Amino acid sequence: MADYDLAIIGGGLNGVSLARDAAGRGLRVILIEQGDLGGAASSATPRLIHGDLSVLERRGFRRVRRALAERRTWLRIAPHLVRPMSFVIPAHADERPPWLLRAGLYVYDALANRGGLPAATTLDITHHPVGNALKRPFGIAFEYADCIVDDSRLVVLTALDAAERGAAIRTGARCVRADRTDIWRLALIDRGHRRVITARALANATGGWTSLVAETVLRQPVPAMAAVQMSQIVVPKLFESDNVYVFQNTDGRLIFASPFQPDFTLIGTVTHGFTGDPAIVAMPSADVSYLCEAVSRYFRERVTPTDVVRTVSGVNLTLAAAGRRDLTMLFHARRRKAPLLTIFGGDVTTSRLRAERAVTRLTPFYPMSRPWTSGATLPGGDFPWDRFETEVDLACHRWQFLSEPQARRLVAAYGTRLPDVLGEAKTREELGQAFGPELTGAEVRYLMAREWARFPEDILWRRSKLGLTMPVADRDALAVFMANPLRTG
Ligand SMILES: Cc1cc2nc3c(=O)[nH]c(=O)nc-3n(C[C@H](O)[C@H](O)[C@H](O)COP(=O)(O)OP(=O)(O)OC[C@H]3O[C@@H](n4cnc5c(N)ncnc54)[C@H](O)[C@@H]3O)c2cc1C
Repeated sequence: MADYDLAIIGGGLNGVSLARDAAGRGLRVILIEQGDLGGAASSATPRLIHGDLSVLERRGFRRVRRALAERRTWLRIAPHLVRPMSFVIPAHADERPPWLLRAGLYVYDALANRGGLPAATTLDITHHPVGNALKRPFGIAFEYADCIVDDSRLVVLTALDAAERGAAIRTGARCVRADRTDIWRLALIDRGHRRVITARALANATGGWTSLVAETVLRQPVPAMAAVQMSQIVVPKLFESDNVYVFQNTDGRLIFASPFQPDFTLIGTVTHGFTGDPAIVAMPSADVSYLCEAVSRYFRERVTPTDVVRTVSGVNLTLAAAGRRDLTMLFHARRRKAPLLTIFGGDVTTSRLRAERAVTRLTPFYPMSRPWTSGATLPGGDFPWDRFETEVDLACHRWQFLSEPQARRLVAAYGTRLPDVLGEAKTREELGQAFGPELTGAEVRYLMAREWARFPEDILWRRSKLGLTMPVADRDALAVFMANPLRTG
């Protein structure tokens, strides 16, 4: 008998979503990730939970409706990670005519069950705070509701839920060979140790590595795939209003400028073909300039490449064959050949549904329970989304040493699991050593013990974004602390 029912290679959003779904349906699951969870493309997404207006423009009504239904699901199951926002599109004389934008948003709203989110409306931005940061000529804008998400925490909390339902999650473990007979036999290098495991089915969820892993590790044929790089930039905060701007660029693409942590703005995305190793993806300077120029058409404050504090890039694959870009899953099973699922690309919004459909493909092979993930909250998400501020108030009341922004960050990260991090602490000092103004020894220990954090970047960029502001000396102290987290202090 095989050790596992399903082995998953890759701990990005696609891999962890498969693990969560399959573990909750009763399968014995192992997930193997060579680095950190969400360490590749899944922490470099546009961070949007949306129906995608550009798909609407291409008349993908069914796709938009499906994604908007998933938006509602996310608000229900991850109210701490997913935040409803006002999205504002200033009307630009040289771009799509205002009537077209208005009509598009009308259809967008009509395709959604808005579930408490406001309907689209027209704003006179000469007299509205959202106009303050913009250049003068913009008179009107269209405002609609969509959501932003903490993409890398979504990956980690999905993995946590999978683990709590019995999945084994192995980070720092690389699959170097997989032999296929009526079961899969996988050779892993697991934190320096060679290990062999067996599984009845295998999922290749290795994102930008999908073809490479298929060819060199699994030695199985895959159709031709094209690698695509997506990039974004982080700059110091460009606007005070609490909304996402959606700008129309001269080439017709939509560029998003979102509030990012209290002091920054995230601008993206730019995409193009990629060749090379997905592990060393860097944002070309031409892409940085493209985004700076695109937003400088709109913002009063000119954005230049020297303002960029961080670039964020990821690579994933799409099927190269024309017209197959929506296809994100391949399934292969034959007599005497254990099943192989290949899952790649796709967006964050539909990741839960994609995993549900993928795992369902295995039902002829195993007894398993019905799809369940749309009805179960992620860890810490057991409160209604419109009570997020109440959760922040409760945290401020219970841990009176927290400032309101600190409580907001912690609730957004841990939701109702916050007591597991802060315990009964009455003072900040009781939480141990401080790393910068926010991070404490208690939080670091929690992240190492429960959320698979091993290195400073795992915490400073993926489980939080505190690395954007943390002084170098505190980073160094954190590295020392993480090397020996059990010591006191
Ligand atoms: C063109 C394009 C546009 C996109 N646009 C959007 C968008 O608009 N909105 C949106 O939400 N998302 C978008 N995405 C999706 C998003 O970036 C990711 O595709 C998504 O997060 C899913 O990632 P993943 O899990 O497939 O891959 P990844 O997050 O890259 O995870 C793959 C993991 O596999 C691991 N791995 C590789 N080889 C091995 C091995 N041998 N052993 C163990 N582990 C291994 C890697 O370390 C990595 O962590 C887009 C993707 C593409 C391609």
